[in-house]
Amino acid sequence: MSEAPVLLVTGGSRGIGAAICLLAARKGWRVAVNYASNRQAADAVVSTIEAGGGEAFAIKGDVGNADDIVAIFAAVDRRFDRLDGLANNAGIVDAPARVDEMSVARLERMMRINVTGSILCAAEAVRRMSSKHGGNGGAIVNISSMAAIIGSPSQYVDYAASKAAIDTFTIGLAREVATEGVRVNAIRPGVIDTEIHASGGLPDRARDMAPSIPMQRAGTADEIADAVLYLLSPEASYITGSILNVSGGR
Ligand code: NAP
Repeated sequence: MSEAPVLLVTGGSRGIGAAICLLAARKGWRVAVNYASNRQAADAVVSTIEAGGGEAFAIKGDVGNADDIVAIFAAVDRRFDRLDGLANNAGIVDAPARVDEMSVARLERMMRINVTGSILCAAEAVRRMSSKHGGNGGAIVNISSMAAIIGSPSQYVDYAASKAAIDTFTIGLAREVATEGVRVNAIRPGVIDTEIHASGGLPDRARDMAPSIPMQRAGTADEIADAVLYLLSPEASYITGSILNVSGGR
């Protein structure tokens, strides 16, 4: 049986998550690729990993649904019977709006997917990794956003607030499980060139924002993946409760 470590990436079918999956496989992880609805994109990530000699499988599941989260982790258990890393990456934005224009339904969806989903996924990971539960340790990397610092006024303050919750959750969980072999860190990406901007109705956002970024360009999903894989690696063995800005100076 393979001894290679196992990484679950939520939202691994596209964008930053897909880049994390591909880099993880190149670094020797076996990868569970979660996706919400785009089976084709998830299968393409799995095929690319397999073509490179790696091992991966796709798992459909909505992190905004607690039952789906239980099923996602059960599928990882069945396939690999171990879990060493979680990239808590799945997340959404919504259309630009002022706070006084946001509906209850919008706010509940935003918090359910970005906050509750991430916390429930981390809890499932802790149940498998923590020495308190008989696990062998592991690492969790939460994907926050520079929005948590900037607040994203007139665009999506709800999203920014959801990511600020991820920052605080990262610090709290890291301290909670620090003696149990589990490290918990977060990345704050700046403006990264993925399809998330189109999903919020701003397809040109990455290009439009470039002049406001000190490095004068959007980042790439691969640049976020590099940071995530570092935090998951043994080279980061004394790093927990840290939140790393990967934002071109923004
Ligand atoms: P993206 O290109 O829109 O990709 C989103 C990924 O998440 C897809 O794989 C999608 O699956 C999956 N997903 C969406 N909703 C889900 C749900 N409810 N359950 C499970 N999976 C779900 O997004 P991205 O830009 O890579 O963003 C990834 C993370 O980085 C998010 O947390 C985002 O907030 C954060 N971030 C992004 C930026 C940026 O500028 N791009 C900046 C800061 C932070 P399907 O393929 O099935 O739809």
